[in-house]
Amino acid sequence: MTSLAARPEVGPATEALARLVAAVDELETLSRFDSAEATARAEAAVADAAALGRADLEQRARLVRADLLRRRGAVAEAGRIAQDVHRWATEAHARHLLARASFVLTAVFQELGDLSGALEHAVSAVDLLDDDAAPALRVDHLVRLADVLGLSRDAAAPERYAAVLLLAEELGDVDRQVRILNNRSYTDQLAGRFEDALAASTRMQALAAEHGRPLDVGGLDTVARALMGLGRFDEAETALLPGLAPEVLGASADGDAGADFLLTLAEVQRRRGAVDAAQRTLVECVRRCRRHGLTAIRVRARAEQAELHAAAGDFRAAFEEHKRHVAELTELQSAQRDARARTLQAMYETTEARRQSRRWRELSLRDPLTGLYNRRYVDEELPRLLEAPGAELVWVALLDLDHFKTVNDTCSHAVGDEVLRAVAGLLQETGAPGPGSFAARLGGEEFVLVLPGPDAGALARHLELVRAAVAAHPWAGLTGGLPVTVSVGAASTAEVADRTAAQLLGRADARLYRAKREGRDRVVVTD
Ligand code: GH3
Ligand code: MG
Ligand code: MG
Repeated sequence: MTSLAARPEVGPATEALARLVAAVDELETLSRFDSAEATARAEAAVADAAALGRADLEQRARLVRADLLRRRGAVAEAGRIAQDVHRWATEAHARHLLARASFVLTAVFQELGDLSGALEHAVSAVDLLDDDAAPALRVDHLVRLADVLGLSRDAAAPERYAAVLLLAEELGDVDRQVRILNNRSYTDQLAGRFEDALAASTRMQALAAEHGRPLDVGGLDTVARALMGLGRFDEAETALLPGLAPEVLGASADGDAGADFLLTLAEVQRRRGAVDAAQRTLVECVRRCRRHGLTAIRVRARAEQAELHAAAGDFRAAFEEHKRHVAELTELQSAQRDARARTLQAMYETTEARRQSRRWRELSLRDPLTGLYNRRYVDEELPRLLEAPGAELVWVALLDLDHFKTVNDTCSHAVGDEVLRAVAGLLQETGAPGPGSFAARLGGEEFVLVLPGPDAGALARHLELVRAAVAAHPWAGLTGGLPVTVSVGAASTAEVADRTAAQLLGRADARLYRAKREGRDRVVVTD
């Protein structure tokens, strides 16, 4: 029993800290929130963290604030904060924070129209997220990656969405499923896949209905645009109708989504021949644009107005409106270009600083599970080693755990992870002793040793020691008696036509395969 005297250890400061950690965790995973309230909570968390002297939590809360700022259109400010946090996280070697900063920066770069910058951050945001991060967070990071791929019209986007949708389904997270289906449909439309877009948005509608959560105007807009892409204008208008309910239309805080929605409705009405209704809708849209200062939508509304004049047979008015549209569009685009250029300039400088940061590089080249170097490191380092002037013999040894699937199946995935860590530890200690040598995890249960220098005899003896060290490790405590062994295949630059990493790895892989075929738990270094 805990005595009262022991209580002060769990004193108010500890409790406050626990509360803060929980608050920051929750803020990071909130998927649907009133942004004014969330902003207030994020700001409170920043202050609390500062008061408790917890810079890491302070930075995490700052990022939440930055993401909220971005949603409200303050992209430059969001980008500045996120870059700042990114720098801090780099210095502090804070992986989770780096993942989160990249997550926010993905959206910032996306909005600035720099999709390759966005993609770079989206990949980091997924890569750097720890295995034990909240599943909802993993979903968010994976969705953002899928979004960037989708906006880039990358053919891999649909399968990314499909995979992350499964994750969200497993979580039973309806909000996230709806968002995923919405974004999937939207990016399908961008790529002209209207049938697929409609399938996704129909599913979104059904899901929302099933759970009694009416779609917001953004979701309705997505459904209607998919239908419109297929020329089904009547159905598109029907799909939009629920959005006209005041509580739905009024729900979008900045008015942005509402104005967008009305613009879509006006277009649908015009295209199905209801010119008067379309005109009334457009007037309401323009009123909203004016009230909320929505310049970009206002400019698009002019194009729709020109179409409407033309549909009503007033070609002179259509032409005048079209001219105004073009003039305002040109002005808007140049203002946007300037703003983007300024923001990107400021961000680029910090991005360069990050690129040059050795610590960040070091981190991005490590495998999170084992701490060994990762495949990225091998891809960079092996060719460098092979091409180095004066470089001589280089050996590459591929190691693959034997019947590892059985370890996972018999024990558990978590035990499997522990086994991988332990093997990595053995490789780190004994596997790569000489200068220039290193051990890395290529992925799954496959490792590589890169060993410059040794002759064939010395190499064979060394690898035999490594194999024996794995086999002799006291595994019983971990696996309950299941043995853990490795098969090894190695090849050297003396045996390949060109000194390329691909040839070397290919040859080593063939020998690894032979080691497996001949009974596993063995080393093969010759043909
Ligand atoms: P073989 O002797 O032929 O290599 O058989 P194996 O069972 O080791 O080979 P296989 O490639 O069929 O299975 C590899 C398994 O490794 C399947 C996969 O679930 C597991 N695995 C891959 N990555 C990880 C990981 O990070 N953690 C855990 N616990 N298991 C992993
Ligand atoms: Mg394998
Ligand atoms: Mg294996």
